[in-house]
Amino acid sequence: MNARPDDLPTPDDVPAAAEILRGAAHRTPVLTSRLTDAELGASVLVKAENLQRTGSFKFRGAFHTLSRLGPDQRRAGVVAFSSGNHAQAVALAAQLLEIPATIVMPTDAPASKLAATRGYGAEIVPYDRYAEDRAAIAADLAQRRGLTLVPPYDHPHVIAGQGTAVYELLADHGPLDALFVCLGGGGLLSGSLLAVQALSPATAVFGVEPEAGDDGRQSLRAGRIVTIDQPRTLADGAATTHLGDRTFPIIAEHVEDVLTVPDDALVEAMRLFASRYKVLVEPTGALAFAGMRAAIAADPQRYAGARIGVTISGGNVDLDRFAALVGGVGAAQT
Ligand SMILES: *Cc1c(COP(=O)(O)O)cnc(C)c1O
Repeated sequence: MNARPDDLPTPDDVPAAAEILRGAAHRTPVLTSRLTDAELGASVLVKAENLQRTGSFKFRGAFHTLSRLGPDQRRAGVVAFSSGNHAQAVALAAQLLEIPATIVMPTDAPASKLAATRGYGAEIVPYDRYAEDRAAIAADLAQRRGLTLVPPYDHPHVIAGQGTAVYELLADHGPLDALFVCLGGGGLLSGSLLAVQALSPATAVFGVEPEAGDDGRQSLRAGRIVTIDQPRTLADGAATTHLGDRTFPIIAEHVEDVLTVPDDALVEAMRLFASRYKVLVEPTGALAFAGMRAAIAADPQRYAGARIGVTISGGNVDLDRFAALVGGVGAAQT
């Protein structure tokens, strides 16, 4: 068994985070589709965090965490490592709060992500992802320059901040029968579980991860954090190898189950989001919706007439890549 950390966030921490995020983060819209509801025999509410600042929910956890730093920590600055959405989220949050930010990013990160991160005023420290250890580089910078490391998921303030998305969904639309949330390192899922405890404790909450990276499901079954090899999946934002010391105990205690979906179901969901909901969603962002569709297909009785919440976690995908994934054979059917 992993030791239970003594700084686990609680349900009360989520509305407190929402208070701090008020005016800084967007209160993102909740999307519906009559066609989807009719097809699935349920009422589906989609929380669109692809429309959040920087294009993903990660802004919530980053801004909340940086807001709670003391004056000395703010002056010295923060460091994060990420090739994706966490980098942009920390960079923008730091810019808004006038905190210097250093982001450790791979030299081969997409040019658009490097440019966006630099555009928010962060200093980028490049590293070779095949030869160097980014966590070690960040830890070294933290130590030498006195920077505070902002982890992508395993931190109480990050978790509480991520929970505000589902908190808004429940506050605006009332209790749900079921909720589907994507699962990488578990920041969004554990925060969502806290929000559900606060506002809709009877909701059955499911985590959804890529089939190729099912460490969350394995961990739930084993009752401890299972670490897997770096998975190969379209869902790069959820290609984590293990849950966190803080996300795991919350998930293990409160989640109904962890489901997995194959990559082709993510592409199908991206296509439905574009055609029916008129929104651009990155592959990882489509995990929860794809998992919900599979769960209803497997057990339509259970969900007949149910009120179901789904998160879209992000929309950062280059248009060429989106077109290559969603275009082609099968595109005409939706
Ligand atoms: C980070 C991220 C995830 C996974 O979130 P965790 O908190 O690590 O579980 C899912 N989708 C997108 C778009 C992300 O950026």
